[in-house]
Amino acid sequence: MEDCIFCKIIKGEIPAKKIYEDEKYLAFLDIKPNTKGHSLVIPKKHITNFTELTKAEVGELAQIVHKIAPQVVKLLSSDSFFLGLNNGRESGQIVDHVHWHIIPRYSDDGLVHWPCKEEENKLLDETFSKLENKIK
Ligand code: 5GP
Ligand code: ZN
Repeated sequence: MEDCIFCKIIKGEIPAKKIYEDEKYLAFLDIKPNTKGHSLVIPKKHITNFTELTKAEVGELAQIVHKIAPQVVKLLSSDSFFLGLNNGRESGQIVDHVHWHIIPRYSDDGLVHWPCKEEENKLLDETFSKLENKIK
């Protein structure tokens, strides 16, 4: 896709620190890393977000992440990582080309877990009633 920054990286039109590439997938370092080694794994085909992936593509993408995440952290002297995928604006998705974040974690990296919101905690029963036995 013409205006897509990640498609431009795939085509080599803008530089990126590529750490893995095969026929269909690419991984490269995030330009604004949350921690050392923060990487993004993307399909080479322009697909907007996670829900647009086919079942087969989800499987392939997950397998690439599963293969490379442990190697990334091992090479950077860690054995811990967070995986994240923002799907939609409210989630924080800025780039509309699906990408899976691999964020290595270190004991001193200063990242914090999402806090549990007390008001959401109180609404657990209401939330559950909307979801219970509804998902096929
Ligand atoms: P999102 O918020 O959409 O889940 O994440 C987009 C990520 O892409 C951000 O972490 C951002 O730093 C990264 N990013 C945006 N533009 C570029 C770029 O041109 N090169 C690289 N390597 N990363 C980028
Ligand atoms: Zn794209």
